[in-house]
Amino acid sequence: MGNVVLNLEMVKINEMKNYYSKQLLDKNIPGSVFAAKTPACMITAYKSGKVLFQGNDSESEAGKWGSSAAGVPSKKPSAVKGKAGAKGDLPSGIGGMSAIGSDEVGTGDFFGPITVVAAYVRKEDIPLLKELGVRDSKDLNDEKIISIAKVIKDVVPFSLMTLKNEKYNQVQGSGMSQGKMKALLHNQAILKVLEKISPVKPEAILIDQFVQPSTYFQHLKGQKAIANKDVYFSTKAEGIHLAVAAASILARYAFIQYIDKLSEAAGFKIPKGAGAQVDVAAAKLILSKGRESLPSFVKLHFANTDKAMAIVNKKRN
Ligand code: MG
Repeated sequence: MGNVVLNLEMVKINEMKNYYSKQLLDKNIPGSVFAAKTPACMITAYKSGKVLFQGNDSESEAGKWGSSAAGVPSKKPSAVKGKAGAKGDLPSGIGGMSAIGSDEVGTGDFFGPITVVAAYVRKEDIPLLKELGVRDSKDLNDEKIISIAKVIKDVVPFSLMTLKNEKYNQVQGSGMSQGKMKALLHNQAILKVLEKISPVKPEAILIDQFVQPSTYFQHLKGQKAIANKDVYFSTKAEGIHLAVAAASILARYAFIQYIDKLSEAAGFKIPKGAGAQVDVAAAKLILSKGRESLPSFVKLHFANTDKAMAIVNKKRN
């Protein structure tokens, strides 16, 4: 089977590294961030942001993280209808429908929670939201996110789910995957928004895809969930419907606010991401508040925990 190449941001690549933490290879490939091997796929992520998937599962494995880009000039997002095996298309004109969109933030950040927001945008409000500056949150800095979020939170019905670090570590420790946590949070957020806007029903529900739809619904087995025929998934969904862009902005806003709260508790500015700066910050936290303070600040299973401890031990010796 063929290879798939994705172009991803470093936050995503760090998230992947944690996701594949049990399957990492001890290979030092020049320019790489990590290499991992699942039973039927070899994954190599490079500092350039390129991630190479090789093997029989390359397509499905890559599908968890994004749609292919390298060498493919088209930026068309990959869209899949919730129903497994259904025609892989979004309804035409979905961008102009009254829709619920959902997205999450924080999955690749060592510090802070996972925040998931589902937001309902009526078609009549699309021009207004555009006017207010709602667009792909990746193009917006924190300051801009905050100012837009403060305005749209009163325009757009939404629901925010925050999986705090304590709880995150608890469920992660009991064996739940991040994918399942996200599926549960997205589902809860969407159900809450549906409740809020009832009896109005959205013309579409669009989830920024983080996993194959079949896996998503598998995670929700036993839960009250929206029928899969009514849910659409797409990577880069922020560019497809403003409801996802609005959800993303509101989720990021909640995440920023939470990080501010953590910074206050820590007594210094908590960094985002999963790079070397968070190792240093966590070490600082351990030195001032003890190792036992970590679970309420970080995602413990990240490799950063050990790195922070190594810094602490070096300082203590
Ligand atoms: Mg997303």
